[in-house]
Amino acid sequence: MKHTEKSAILLIYTGGTIGMKEDPVILALRPFDFSQILEEVPELGKFAYRVDSYTFDPLIDSSDVEPSLWKTLAALIEERYDDYDGFVVLHGTDTMAYSASALSFMIEGLTKPVIFTGSQLPIGMPRTDGKENLISAVEIAAAKDSEGHARVPEVCIYFDNVLMRGNRTSKINSDNFRAFRSENLPPLAEAGISIRYNSGLIRTPSSWDARPVFHKELDTRVAILKMHPGITPQVVRNILCGPESRAVIIETYGAGNAPSKKWFLDLILEALEMGKVILNVTQCLAGSVNMDIYATGKCLKDAGVASGYDSTTESALAKLFHLLGTSSDTDSVRKGLESDLRGEISK
Ligand code: ASP
Repeated sequence: MKHTEKSAILLIYTGGTIGMKEDPVILALRPFDFSQILEEVPELGKFAYRVDSYTFDPLIDSSDVEPSLWKTLAALIEERYDDYDGFVVLHGTDTMAYSASALSFMIEGLTKPVIFTGSQLPIGMPRTDGKENLISAVEIAAAKDSEGHARVPEVCIYFDNVLMRGNRTSKINSDNFRAFRSENLPPLAEAGISIRYNSGLIRTPSSWDARPVFHKELDTRVAILKMHPGITPQVVRNILCGPESRAVIIETYGAGNAPSKKWFLDLILEALEMGKVILNVTQCLAGSVNMDIYATGKCLKDAGVASGYDSTTESALAKLFHLLGTSSDTDSVRKGLESDLRGEISK
């Protein structure tokens, strides 16, 4: 696409509250036809750029999202990459942080924005947050710098006036309009009267001219073990040493600490001997894993557990799906986990 042409944005509607309305029969929210969204947001027609739309069939509540949807999304963006300046993905909020994380790993060398957004209230409701979220997400997806490059060539979530790196976000509120947080990374942009970009934080590709690489292979054989006082050896064994998984994420306490009991460490060693990758992420909303501080973290590190640093669980899961999908070698998966691939961790 040449800079002289009118900018074009592809709006991809996957489902979620933003495009739902009440079904009078079941008295619950159901997705409605996307053409009605455009009727609800005539402001989209006022932009100086072209906004095309693509609707998923079937539309889904994001609680039903599967990695197959991420593959379809990645394939769609790949197929239409040269035709658009940016992409806006309308998605349910419940699993948006997982989908944005996944897409960030699946697209390497992105030169155009992929902005996820949604809403807490359907777009047809008087107090909806959907209109502002959608309109600003489109504006951000179309924004260029003075050289004609995208201002935010990243996979992001835009919600309630804040633009966040997708693989840094978590849904933290099921009720408030501020539904997402990026605790370990400041916003990439904030929308007020104007949109203020935090250029120092926004990642840029090594080449603006190269086409991104789309990685569509995902291996979902990952389990998550959330530590809690009172957890039994049987429960830990089932999750850690189950034959179905290639990797286990342990959600530990504080700076990456877990029980120092012998049975627990024995199970960690057993799982590692089975060839599994074990990744340590913290249950804390903010801060990082540092397995050098306490003896209870140090023994995990010494055993061979990889550090998730300040990763969210959503991002850690998506990163593992991606790394396991692209490599059968445990060491290279472990190395990839401890590397910053898409701005998802700070070391
Ligand atoms: N259940 C909805 C979904 O995630 C909630 C939302 O869109 O906010 O699809």
